[in-house]
Amino acid sequence: IWQTIRSHLRAEYGTRTYDSWLKPLALVSVDADTVTLGSPTHFTADWIRNHFAERLRLLWAAQSAAIQHVRIVVENGLKTAAIPEPEQPEAIPATVREAPAFGVALEPRYTFDSFVVGKANELAYNAARTVAEGGPIDFNPLFLHGTTGLGKTHLMHAIGWQIRSAMPGAKVVYMSAEKFMVEFVSAMRDKDTLSFKQKLRTADLLMIDDVQFIAGKDSTQEEFFHTMNEIISAGKRLVITADRSPQNLEGIENRILSRLAWGLVADINPADYELRLSILLEKMKRMPGATVGEDVIDFLARKITSNVRELEGALNRIVAYSTLVGKPIDLDFARQVLADVLKAHDRKVTIDEIQRKVADYYAIKLSDLLSARRAREVARPRQVAMFLAKRLTPRSLPDIGRRFGGRDHTTVMHAVKRIEELRADDSELDADITRLTRIIDA
Ligand code: ADP
Ligand code: MG
Repeated sequence: IWQTIRSHLRAEYGTRTYDSWLKPLALVSVDADTVTLGSPTHFTADWIRNHFAERLRLLWAAQSAAIQHVRIVVENGLKTAAIPEPEQPEAIPATVREAPAFGVALEPRYTFDSFVVGKANELAYNAARTVAEGGPIDFNPLFLHGTTGLGKTHLMHAIGWQIRSAMPGAKVVYMSAEKFMVEFVSAMRDKDTLSFKQKLRTADLLMIDDVQFIAGKDSTQEEFFHTMNEIISAGKRLVITADRSPQNLEGIENRILSRLAWGLVADINPADYELRLSILLEKMKRMPGATVGEDVIDFLARKITSNVRELEGALNRIVAYSTLVGKPIDLDFARQVLADVLKAHDRKVTIDEIQRKVADYYAIKLSDLLSARRAREVARPRQVAMFLAKRLTPRSLPDIGRRFGGRDHTTVMHAVKRIEELRADDSELDADITRLTRIIDA
């Protein structure tokens, strides 16, 4: 049954999600109405409980009517996420690897295989795949847009690789719009525009990256427009990217824009937490030997939200730095190495917010948290909230005291010390603080 369910899961969630999360699940036991599955780490177990538990339960119930519960346990309690075996390098035939006749070489790392799909990019990804399959398409050109660092160039190269390996004779031309302009201008200067045109217009797949660059460049746009038309009317494929949508491309001729609008316009949005996490896991597969704890991965995914390039850069940086100084990568290490990057991303946490979330967490009233009551069930959360206010905001002790019902700064100081002492021995309190920090910081 478990094998059947596993193949269901693979089909349903796709190989990538399956490999990252579900494949490591092991069947621990089946008794009466409960199935127990083991996941290698707390982190993955949590993730599976939150994202797949209900689906797992339904699938089991469908296979075996007696099953009503699916339990996910941590099987070996490993503390760090296991780094999967490095993947086989992708099989790109030698004939495909050689330098292109024209344009710029494709980056070997940028394949569909290494591209992680999520809500933010699935439209662009599916469109790119369709173009790359080489069958008839009912849209042309494909126009991909999104702000910097979200994977436009990666997808383009992936299309190029796939077309080249499926059709070894195909002429794939990739270049930035800037390069297009430089080549065109120099061809004009040499009075040799004919061979420039020839090289481009005979492409089976032409890809022009970052087309916003030719805004306002009239003669280049003229040439670009004719190139587009020739490629399209010859039934060859055209893929274009820009950092913004056609409507927002100022300084680009209308006839070009309306040509773009005939094709398929697909946007790529900033990755959400889940996608950022999957991308980090994917990148780690390609860094055999690096041991990065699950808490560090989670930390990066939460903190580096701007774009994938920065996310990847941050991971590379901590791994490189740890090799350099021979230190293991833990959360403090990551914070230290990324201090400058994080400063730019850090959101201001307010005392209000801390108070609300702490009250929430301990299921007590906010008014009790701020009151003079000394009952332990409110006094301890109050101390935790003060501790977090000191740690997560730049406010002074007197300031914090005032915000906690007009208390004295020595009270706050005492609370901070007390919590620090207690959490050293009290693992439950320590876990509460870690969780709260995560909740507040999110
Ligand atoms: P853009 O061209 O949109 O500015 P790139 O294609 O250069 O962005 O992507 C920046 C970096 O982020 C590249 O190293 C790329 O491999 C990586 N990247 C972006 N999106 C993804 C994704 N979905 N999966 C894996 N890597 C990604
Ligand atoms: Mg790019």
